[in-house]
Amino acid sequence: MIPPIANRFVAGESPAVALDHVRQINQRNVGAIVNLLGEHYEERPPVRSDAAEYRAIAGDIAGSNLDACLSVKPSQLGLDIGEDVFREVLEDIVETAVDRDVFVWIDMEDHTTTDATLDAFEDLAREYGTDGSDGRLGVCVQANLKRTRDDIERLADVPGKVRFVKGAYDEPADVAYDGSDRVNREYEALLEYAFEQFDGGIAVGSHDPAMIDHAIDCHDEYGTDFEIQMLMGVREDAQYDLASEYDVWQYVPYGGRWKSYFYRRATERKENLRFALRAIFGR
Ligand code: FAD
Repeated sequence: MIPPIANRFVAGESPAVALDHVRQINQRNVGAIVNLLGEHYEERPPVRSDAAEYRAIAGDIAGSNLDACLSVKPSQLGLDIGEDVFREVLEDIVETAVDRDVFVWIDMEDHTTTDATLDAFEDLAREYGTDGSDGRLGVCVQANLKRTRDDIERLADVPGKVRFVKGAYDEPADVAYDGSDRVNREYEALLEYAFEQFDGGIAVGSHDPAMIDHAIDCHDEYGTDFEIQMLMGVREDAQYDLASEYDVWQYVPYGGRWKSYFYRRATERKENLRFALRAIFGR
């Protein structure tokens, strides 16, 4: 059982509980990006089991008419075992999801995985993702990486969506920008480029009011469609407010491997840490 304290950031352990949460946020006009927690598998059994659960949940989403999509991590699908394993498993999930009309996002992990992730995204997006203006697949790019400007030029004509985030991994100085001001400027520049060059399919994966305002300004200037994505348990009131005017999606993690994800969320901001300690010690 997930303790109530972790329930702010993690929907629950089972797909049924996660889908209950999806139903609740759908009623408030917010879509769900469902993520089964798991990463860095070095053996095939957990890869196979998570892939089977993603395929099943794609069926559940389609069968219940929920406004929901999936988000998978490359190392959850076997990238640490081999790129061939990752591609094969990802393609199986994508095939099932496309068949059920469920969109699939690919999260981005640290810089050593960027090439393999973008290559797999591009190949599958060109094969499966050509219907509909935003395709069937999306990939995440990170503003802290120096390479991302080139990557988004490459992605501009690939069918599908691109999620822009600041980047969650500590990266070496030769590949990444240092300092939040520099990363924020880069994030704004990347959005500017995307709103000007992309036909749509831009996802702003940030809780930062300044970045969201910048995206809204770019949308007003260029008219390009976009969506806002935030994590479960983070600025939820803002998510519901923004949903009255914009397309808003909440990243909804669930599953038995919730501890390290919860730990990251609870320790990344002082407010959350205090909230976590208050919940633990009851004051
Ligand atoms: P920050 O730079 O952390 O904060 C800027 C401002 O935002 C703060 O000053 C505050 O005003 C506001 N804010 C931020 N957090 C809070 C809070 N908890 N409560 C209140 N206000 C807050 N990273 C990856 O590397 N790969 C991925 O695939 C990936 N996917 C993601 C998917 C989604 C939907 C989201 C939202 C993030 C994802 N990330 C991913 C994480 C991302 O890279 C950042 O680490 C994370 O979002 C923190 O950056 P930020 O832009 O939200 O704001």
